[in-house]
Amino acid sequence: MQAPPIIRAIKSIEHYQEIPIIFLTPSGTTFNTKECQKLTLKLKACKSIIFLCGHYEGVDQRVIDRYVTDEYSIGDYVLTGGELPALVLADSIIRHIQGVLGNAGSLTEESFESNLLEYPQYTRPQKVEDMSVPEVLLSGNHAQIKKWRKAKSLEITQEKRPDLLKKEK
Ligand code: SAM
Repeated sequence: MQAPPIIRAIKSIEHYQEIPIIFLTPSGTTFNTKECQKLTLKLKACKSIIFLCGHYEGVDQRVIDRYVTDEYSIGDYVLTGGELPALVLADSIIRHIQGVLGNAGSLTEESFESNLLEYPQYTRPQKVEDMSVPEVLLSGNHAQIKKWRKAKSLEITQEKRPDLLKKEK
């Protein structure tokens, strides 16, 4: 019988000792872009991450003390199990792996990457009911478009998450 994928992924005891073992718990560090980047680097270095998902009251403290390397929460609320938080972390980390996104540039422009929320997105058609795509985006003037996007990012962040602008300063 073939070993489960995680056992097959472990090449040696030394390799196993380097693999991050992440316990998902409401009392962990709140997961964010910065933490995601740290975990992406760890994943690149050791090719595997183990997620430990609790249920009911959680996990015996001795298992945590002996094996867990990092503890993360996905927010100040309680779920029934750690599986959804593990998927949240996995999805967010995997997007940082080269080749996963069609356009690598999207990563640097997305919300939180520079403590700013993203500018508004528009697609076709040019006009929907009485609403048009902003003229500047149709101008073909890349410098003006960049300027408009930066201004909109600042405006939206100021309106929705002024705390992020304080961090940026
Ligand atoms: N008794 C725990 C407490 O008060 O912190 C909550 C246990 S919860 C019902 C069961 C499991 O769901 C946890 O062990 C954890 O793995 C997961 N979990 C629940 N909420 C979470 C969150 N906000 N972030 C990460 N994991 C969470």
